Amino acid sequence: MTLMSGSAFAADTSARSAEAEQKVVVAHRGASAYLPEHTLPAVAMAYAMGAEYMEQDVIMTRDDQLIVWHDLTLERTTDVAERFPERARENGSFYVIDFDLDELRQLRLTEGFRLDEDGEQVSNYPSRFPLWQSRFQVHTLAEQIEMVQGMNHSTGQDIGIYPEIKSPAFHREHGKDISTAMVRELKRFGYTSKDDPIFLQTFDFDELRRVHDEIFPAEGVELPLIQLIGGGAAYQWMLEPAGVEEVARYADGLGPHYSLIIDDDSTMDNLIITDLVPLAHQHGMEVHPYTFRADEGMVPPYARDFEHMLELFYFEADVDGVFTDFPDRVVDFLRAR
Ligand code: CA
Repeated sequence: MTLMSGSAFAADTSARSAEAEQKVVVAHRGASAYLPEHTLPAVAMAYAMGAEYMEQDVIMTRDDQLIVWHDLTLERTTDVAERFPERARENGSFYVIDFDLDELRQLRLTEGFRLDEDGEQVSNYPSRFPLWQSRFQVHTLAEQIEMVQGMNHSTGQDIGIYPEIKSPAFHREHGKDISTAMVRELKRFGYTSKDDPIFLQTFDFDELRRVHDEIFPAEGVELPLIQLIGGGAAYQWMLEPAGVEEVARYADGLGPHYSLIIDDDSTMDNLIITDLVPLAHQHGMEVHPYTFRADEGMVPPYARDFEHMLELFYFEADVDGVFTDFPDRVVDFLRAR
């Protein structure tokens, strides 16, 4: 009796840990809860914390360089307004695409901030890294890949990258084909097949299809593709069975906002899990929702705490990975399973 229940327990435990081992952790803009997003130190920290993929948002500069950057604009996380005050557009914003890389490298980076009613800078996440402390700079996609591949060499690991093609239509309006430039850059660094440690992501379905149907064949590569899904009406069709089937013709996985998997109307007593994960799995796609944050007020009310939120998503809703600003917390959670 004891033996039987013991071995049943062991089998159950090993099935569970095998399941946990297949789950991945994507470091969202590096270990961005602890260091300014998309800086090389934030990437090194996420790497050391054990995340399997490092995420890069990618934008093109005026002189056609690919930089790791989230916003189309610069003012949320830099001193651009002081350094280049005359370079704002009419709407008051400073656009990456209006600057050369050499100019962008002169900027100081910091945590995200906003201006309060008195024009004073206020951190968007007061408990994160302090504004303007230490020194952080803009870097290119190539420099970040060199860093990840360098750490792979020095540690003997095979940690992946997870670049996002940002706003391809905006780049096209400015005469730039960011997707072709990115695919060529990735190819130059050896990312050429679906077996390589990479996912290439974008919100733009037309562009995802173009990357799959035109750019990959033209460049002689084929990389795993992730279709990101936002909460807006424009994405509604992708949540329907026919939409998931259509996306699966091009993509290897979905990257939805997490509210599209566990509905925001859920409560502790009534968890509403949508059909999206089973539908995606039916079509052979992985599901990696975004963005898991442990900051105060960022854990949805249907979860007791951040780890409970992870439990619900990884093991109730059965997602394959999550984007997180807190890779250490997610890695610890999965290791404990
Ligand atoms: Ca992103």
